[in-house]
Amino acid sequence: MKHTSRPTNFPNFPLADLHAHLGASVSPTTYWEIAHEQGFKLPERDYHRFIEYITLSQDRKMNLKDYFDNIYHPLLDPLSSGTFAVETATFEIMGGAYRSSDITLIELRNNPMKHNHGGQEDLDHIIMAMLRGMEKALLQYPKLRAGLIFCMDRQFSFEQNAIIVEKAIKYRRRGVVAIDLANYYPTSGFDLKEYKSLVLKARNAGLKVTIHSGETPGTNDLWEVVEYLKPERIGHGIKAAHDKKLMKRLVKNNIVLEICPMSNIATRAVENIEELASNIKTLKENNVRFTINTDWPEMIEGAHLNDQFAMLADKGILRMDELRECTKTAFESTFVPNGGINAYL
Ligand SMILES: [Zn+2]
Repeated sequence: MKHTSRPTNFPNFPLADLHAHLGASVSPTTYWEIAHEQGFKLPERDYHRFIEYITLSQDRKMNLKDYFDNIYHPLLDPLSSGTFAVETATFEIMGGAYRSSDITLIELRNNPMKHNHGGQEDLDHIIMAMLRGMEKALLQYPKLRAGLIFCMDRQFSFEQNAIIVEKAIKYRRRGVVAIDLANYYPTSGFDLKEYKSLVLKARNAGLKVTIHSGETPGTNDLWEVVEYLKPERIGHGIKAAHDKKLMKRLVKNNIVLEICPMSNIATRAVENIEELASNIKTLKENNVRFTINTDWPEMIEGAHLNDQFAMLADKGILRMDELRECTKTAFESTFVPNGGINAYL
């Protein structure tokens, strides 16, 4: 009975999501349950008003700074912190992606230091809880492949980020597959060049590298990222479409962009859907390889991966055969090994 009731523009093939953040991939229902399980006081007492409060939509857009400052950091970070929350969240996200969007490959990213109540809990406990959640999902859904990516942060000190890399290396064989550098603008004193050594250390230990760049005005550092950090993939990179020389370099270095359409619209990384369409068209014309991802599948209305595929096809931004090609690119450029749970045993 799978897919039979879906409109024709829904994909009828398994999908891959290479760019989803833990804090923004927990379904509002799961957040609601985690909160009540632990006695959290929420800004809204009614379930439906709570969902409206934490989600973005066509009628409720916010730039990243406002969303982070008002909702993500004060509410969702603490709600997705602690061993119970991260284990539940990881399990529910991975299982939910498979059930609702037929996602058979998921790379879930997070910064473990943002899920330990500001340092109150031990990082190893937090990481092991995420891994338990992932293992449970992989056991429950044997067609699923999954891995975790640990995000360094442009607003953390070099020393803090070095700890994140150290933890990623420590848990490499258990399912941490790559490192990332996230956040929408750097604090003063942040020097991307410094990260060359840290990224090299991770790579030498067998980890892969993806870097958030080319999304917001504060991450206008695509050239530096390519030159100094040499990532296999770039998170977003939608602004590369404005730089012909850069697109040539991306092709030459075989760097894959993780495009997140609904996120870019909801957080105003692109002005509107026309700019999104134009950028995607330019990337295509210049042979830049890219994948389609969620970023924040549960915090943005219509951001589930199959919904986004349907939207892109409906609007004529990408045909279904091109979306299938994006999915093929995702399966080719994933950091997750074959074998589901067996990959990590
Ligand atoms: Zn992201």
